[in-house]
Amino acid sequence: MLKVEHVSKYYGDFKAVDDLSFEVDKGEIFGLLGVNGAGKTTTFRMIMGLLDKSSGKITLNGKDIDYSVTDDIGFLTEERSLLTKLTVREQAIYFGALKSMSNDKILERLDYLLDKFGISEYKDKKIKELSKGNQQKIQFITAILNEPKLLILDEPFAGLDPFNIELFKSEIIELSKKGSIIIFSSHRMEHVELFCKKLVILVNGKTVLSGNIKDIKESFMKKNIIVKGDIDLEKLKKIKGVEKVIEKSDEYEVIISSKEIIKDVFNFISKCSNITKFIVEEPSLNEIFISKVGEAYEK
Ligand code: ATP
Repeated sequence: MLKVEHVSKYYGDFKAVDDLSFEVDKGEIFGLLGVNGAGKTTTFRMIMGLLDKSSGKITLNGKDIDYSVTDDIGFLTEERSLLTKLTVREQAIYFGALKSMSNDKILERLDYLLDKFGISEYKDKKIKELSKGNQQKIQFITAILNEPKLLILDEPFAGLDPFNIELFKSEIIELSKKGSIIIFSSHRMEHVELFCKKLVILVNGKTVLSGNIKDIKESFMKKNIIVKGDIDLEKLKKIKGVEKVIEKSDEYEVIISSKEIIKDVFNFISKCSNITKFIVEEPSLNEIFISKVGEAYEK
């Protein structure tokens, strides 16, 4: 388990990370979210031990993160750090050796991953000759060459097309199934929503929301029901807890005061005729993010 406990970071007088705490278990994918300058990269660098904390504690399986565990860590940095004059093979050997991998193991893993990402033909090409997207694949392959137990991905999807995002995602999910702890940052809520179970949202270094995505969505107020069919509107509006019914082109949006009302609406609708739709709409993570970040700025 990765444990971040009450971690803060000052750059001079400026507090970039303020009392941050979270835990990520084996096999979990965790989202660290925030607008530009929120403190994500600073947090990653502190986890990696590349930057000293001002206060707090970070441990991996109960131990401080130091050189004794770096062989088990993978890090995809936001600023990217490829050795562009080397070939793909040379760069893999260089980084794999830094993770104490044998040459045979490095080349076996490299062949497997290049094949998976459909770029086997680039193995002996210099990195600078590759397109940006392919360079990013190489960077990702390098970060996961050692099948890290802790994988940190700073904006892994930036600049990738939807097809390649899918490839990255499936590889990340596979690693999590094998037990890796994965933390990633992204501005794109739909990516986070798809495969993170837990998250933290930072604004100016402060945590404005944290926890399980399912619980967060449930506790967020918005819960509307979309229904379609022959419905007695006056009776629907009289159900206790139904705040408003909005008529749309061929369906109704029912605004309710809490999720406890869903079953009352359902009981009523199930007795109406020609019902072809009953959908309880949940807020998207994007809506929650925008609302929480907005609230934080208003304070
Ligand atoms: P982005 O999404 O833009 O990459 P981020 O969430 O990763 O942002 P950080 O790079 O961690 O944010 O920066 C957090 C804050 O700390 C910002 O206000 C930034 O200007 C400041 N900061 C970062 N590095 C330094 C530094 N070396 N010296 C002083 N201030 C810094």
